[in-house]
Amino acid sequence: WWAFSEVADNGLVEQGKRSISQCPRCETGLANNEVEYEDVEDPSIYVKFPLADREGSLVIWTTTPWTIPANTFVAVDEDLTYNAVRAEKDGEEELLYVAAECVEDVLGEGRYEEYAVEAELTGDELVGWAYDHPLADHVPDYPEFEGAGQVYAADYVEADRTGLVHSAPGHGEEDFHRGTELGLDIHCPVGPNGEFEAAAGEYAGQFVRDANDDIIEDLVADGHMLAHGTVDHSYGHCWRCDTGIIQLVTDQWFISITDVKDDLLDNMEESEWHPDWARDNRFRDFIEDAPDWNVSRQRYWGVPIPIWVPEDAEPGNLDEDMIVVGTREELADRVEEDIDPDSIDLHRPAVDGLTIVEDGTTYRRVEDVFDVWLDSSVASWGTLGYPSDETAHEELWPADLIIEAHDQTRGWFWSQLGMGTAAVDQIPYEEVLMHGFANDEDGRKMSKSVGNIVTPEEAIERAGRDPLRTYLLSHDQQGVDLAFEWDGLGEIQGKLNILWNVFRFPLEYMELDGYDPADADLSDGDLELVDEWVLSRLQSVETEVADAWDDYRVSDAVNAVIEFVTQDVSRFYVKAVRDRMWEETDSPSKRGAYATLATVLDEVIRLLAPIA
Ligand SMILES: [Zn+2]
Repeated sequence: WWAFSEVADNGLVEQGKRSISQCPRCETGLANNEVEYEDVEDPSIYVKFPLADREGSLVIWTTTPWTIPANTFVAVDEDLTYNAVRAEKDGEEELLYVAAECVEDVLGEGRYEEYAVEAELTGDELVGWAYDHPLADHVPDYPEFEGAGQVYAADYVEADRTGLVHSAPGHGEEDFHRGTELGLDIHCPVGPNGEFEAAAGEYAGQFVRDANDDIIEDLVADGHMLAHGTVDHSYGHCWRCDTGIIQLVTDQWFISITDVKDDLLDNMEESEWHPDWARDNRFRDFIEDAPDWNVSRQRYWGVPIPIWVPEDAEPGNLDEDMIVVGTREELADRVEEDIDPDSIDLHRPAVDGLTIVEDGTTYRRVEDVFDVWLDSSVASWGTLGYPSDETAHEELWPADLIIEAHDQTRGWFWSQLGMGTAAVDQIPYEEVLMHGFANDEDGRKMSKSVGNIVTPEEAIERAGRDPLRTYLLSHDQQGVDLAFEWDGLGEIQGKLNILWNVFRFPLEYMELDGYDPADADLSDGDLELVDEWVLSRLQSVETEVADAWDDYRVSDAVNAVIEFVTQDVSRFYVKAVRDRMWEETDSPSKRGAYATLATVLDEVIRLLAPIA
């Protein structure tokens, strides 16, 4: 709440419209990853939109008859070729406009007996043509405003079905973007429960999908239907309740980060990334393209949005007179009800009934809750108890390092930068380590349906915890995916066994001689050249490992130690000192070898401590 109120103070909170996938049963918007696709049968209709000031009709195709009441324009591809076709059926003639490539199919669907192409036009020539709304007699409040009922160009048009696309900016996402771009009003006569509202005229009160039959019947009766049937296609459903989603444009709350894009990019520069290309390519591109951040969700569970608006305010412009509450104390001070700031539960329903009365106006809380990414965005200071407690924040903020996989470019890396910039104009982290995913041996994502999942439990069962951890960390961690291979895991297991054997090798002799490796002292005994050599190698490896850790090159650190143990120590040093350890009696040379090996192994364990 505090961070959001800072964002509001910076003038970056606004209400706006957006096309969302709505579950009409749960009555909430769904994120893209909450929409599941299934094959279903839907209506398939070819509708004639009568041209207003010339002969003929534009032919469109759709699977959602219920979106026709909201039709605002028809889209064409400027460069596509369209035909005016004179067609005859049952002794009657009519003139139809469709894309040249679609003529045969469309006329076939309409069971026309004869037809002839009368003219050829580019999409560009159709732009600006006006037509009459095909449901005007049933929906008196159809989109009739300035600019509605015309042909426009749009880049989502293809030479498919009819090559002309019925566009309802109050529903479809692409239609919404194009409609907004064209400056058209956004008309959506459907409520969050999927029922037509009063603006839908004769269909008001019906669930949109149930109204399909009536709409089809009316289009047929009015002579606007060219053909209708059904189509099997993949359609989105709610992941919770399996209800078919509907696309609606609704009022949502945004943090207008597009207003602070330069600040976002400047703040991004303040962070150091491993690998650096992740910041300079991937993250920068994402920031540059990022639209305003929709932070509202229509759910019950979640952090309630702390915005109070006048109870009679017009939806759509609620940001004009909003009050954004930032703290418990402010809430207790401003609301009419008597609440204890320390104990009030800041969730629904406890905050829903609280009202603020100022200058004779009663304010009520908007019902929405925050997008969960908003919670994650404040983690860096929220976990430090800031702003109520400033001590830890003073010492520890911003975070030294955050570690996540590359999917978080658009997730946590982003949400923290977005909120940090919008609320306090600072990036909340100094360094980022972006790692990859663990995929299967062919580099494919592990998935239940493909059946290629290797669980950590299975790998631990077969090879052990340390080998699994060492194997995973021995691969480049910086933005690169790992292709998991059992052979590779086995190889690492073998290398760790060598380490184990190197440890066991001197113990027997040390025990016989009563030598405690925990008290190893390099000045006790004589060091030979080979001892000096392995100790020198040890120092080089220590430097190499320290440098690698400084750059978060974990795999380089792991591999340097493993290489040192399996090559320098096991294959060379142990063989070279074997004879000295086999000596029957105690000797300075033997004690030098003991001390060297004990020192090497002690430090190897320290070097491996973060890994195995
Ligand atoms: Zn649902």
